[in-house]
Amino acid sequence: MEYIAASQSTRIWNISSRCVQILCTEERIPGVFKYGKTWAIPKCGKNQWMGEELLITNARRKMFKCKRCGLCCKSVSLSPLYAELNRGDGICKYFDNNSLLCTIYDHRPLVCNVDAMYETYLAYKMSKNEFYKLNYAGCRALEQAQIKK
Ligand code: SF4
Ligand code: SF4
Repeated sequence: MEYIAASQSTRIWNISSRCVQILCTEERIPGVFKYGKTWAIPKCGKNQWMGEELLITNARRKMFKCKRCGLCCKSVSLSPLYAELNRGDGICKYFDNNSLLCTIYDHRPLVCNVDAMYETYLAYKMSKNEFYKLNYAGCRALEQAQIKK
């Protein structure tokens, strides 16, 4: 069987890498498996993906829409919640400055996972949309601070 990498599948399906990661980690793609640190996605899964368009749409809708600017990962000194991640200069030790991505994304701490944080600690307090709005406001504040620099 022929396999494609997650990066290829994002291009083929025009969905975010995080959406692909969710589909892979939740084993929603038949036959998908992890090879080392990367996902191997069966090429024959393409038709099945098409048949699961609704599933992909749902995964998209449920996800926090991160622009992958990396600003939060470069600002871990702003909250004591991220203290253990600080490599000493306010940047997370797991942040890759070239790709602007997290090098431990699949195993990132709960505090870095908006959806998991919501489900674990906040679902009883507010709606997911409210929590998303708070997080989007945080992203915008980081953007504004960056612009002023
Ligand atoms: S600041 Fe917001 S948009 Fe940028 S990487 Fe962090 S969560 Fe994503
Ligand atoms: S662990 Fe990953 S997501 Fe969390 S701050 Fe570090 S680089 Fe960002």
